[in-house]
Amino acid sequence: MAHRAEPLALVAGGAGFIGSHLCDALLARGWSVVAVDSFHTGRYDNLRHLEREPRFDLVEADVMEPLPPRLTRAGRRFTHVFNLASAASPPHYQADPEHTLLTNVLGTRHLLALSAVQGARFFLASTSEVYGDPEVHPQRESYWGHVNPTGPRACYDEGKRAAETLTFDHLRARRGDARVARIFNTYGPRMRADDGRIVSNAITQALAGDDVTLYSDGSQTRSFCYVDDLVDGLMRLMLHENDYRGAINLGNPVELSVRELAEAVVRTTGSRSAIVQRPLPVDDPRRRRPDIALARRVLGWTPTVPLAVGLERTVAHFAAEARAAAERPLA
Ligand code: NAD
Repeated sequence: MAHRAEPLALVAGGAGFIGSHLCDALLARGWSVVAVDSFHTGRYDNLRHLEREPRFDLVEADVMEPLPPRLTRAGRRFTHVFNLASAASPPHYQADPEHTLLTNVLGTRHLLALSAVQGARFFLASTSEVYGDPEVHPQRESYWGHVNPTGPRACYDEGKRAAETLTFDHLRARRGDARVARIFNTYGPRMRADDGRIVSNAITQALAGDDVTLYSDGSQTRSFCYVDDLVDGLMRLMLHENDYRGAINLGNPVELSVRELAEAVVRTTGSRSAIVQRPLPVDDPRRRRPDIALARRVLGWTPTVPLAVGLERTVAHFAAEARAAAERPLA
C-alpha cells in the first residue's frame, strides 16, 4: 500500500485573526502545523496558548521575501499550504500599500512554488473585495467585479486579484492542486480592536461608553460571518475531495445595514452609547452579500452561528482584553 504522509500544514498568516483559529482547528484534527508570520498585523497573543504544543511550530518570516530554509528544515514535507498572509482591514492594508500588493503577489508566488516542489495542496484566502463596488447583487463567483484599479483600496483588491490569477495559472500549468475562497466580512474573538472595521470599532466604542461611529447614514449593507463558521468552510474546502476548482464564496448571506449591526452591538454590550454619523470613505462598497449556492452545493457548507451568538462571544473577548490591558502594570 502506498504510504500516505501525515498531514502537515503550513499556515502563512497564522498569527492573525483567522489564521490563528485555522491553526487551532487543524491541530484539533490531529494535524501538525507550522505557522509563518511577519507579525505585520498578527499578534503573538493569538498563538500563546500553543507554546507547549509539540505539533505546532512558528517561524517568523515575511512571505514577500524568499521563504527561509528553516521552514523546510529536517526534511519537513507540507501536505497543505494555506496562504492567509495579508493585512486585511483598510487602515492596515493602506498603511503600506506597496507591501500589501507585494505580499499578495510575491507571497502567493513563493508559497505556490513551495507547494509545487512539495506536492502540497495550496489554499488562497481571497476576498469579496475582488468584486469591488459590485454592480450585481448578491455577488456570484461568475461576476468579474467592479474594482477601481487606481484608488486607495487597489493595493489590496488588485493584489488579491493577481494572487487568484497566479493560483489559477498554477492549476492550469498542472503544477499542483489549489483551492481559492473569496472570504466575506468575518468577525469574532482575536479581531484587533484597532482594525478600523465596523464590528471591532462598534464593540470597542460601546464597551468604553463612547458614541458608536457610522460612516455615512448607516444604510450601506454588509454580511457578517462568525469566524468558526468561516474556518469550517476553509476546512471543508481543503480537506474534502471534490472536483470543483474555481473560486468559492464563503460568507454569511444574512445582509444587514451597518446601522442595524451597530444597534445589535450596543444591545449586546448593554451600553448606552449613541450612534453617530460620519462621511463615507472613498470607494467603500455600498452593498455586499455573498451568494453561497456554490459553497452549499460543493462543500455542503452553510453558516450556522447567528449574529446574536457570535456578537456575544466577540464582545466577551473584547471585554476580557480590555480588562487584561487595564490590569497590566505600566512599563
Ligand atoms: P489579520 O491581519 O489578522 O491576519 C493576517 C496575518 O498575515 C497577520 O498575522 C499578519 O501579520 C500576516 N502577514 C501580513 N503580511 C505578511 C507578510 N508579508 N509575511 C508574513 N505574514 C504576513 O487578517 P485576517 O482578518 O485574519 O485575514 C486573514 C486572511 O483572510 C487575509 O489574507 C485576508 O485578506 C483574508 N480575508 C479576511 C477577511 C476578514 O473579514 N477578516 C475578509 C476577506 C478576506
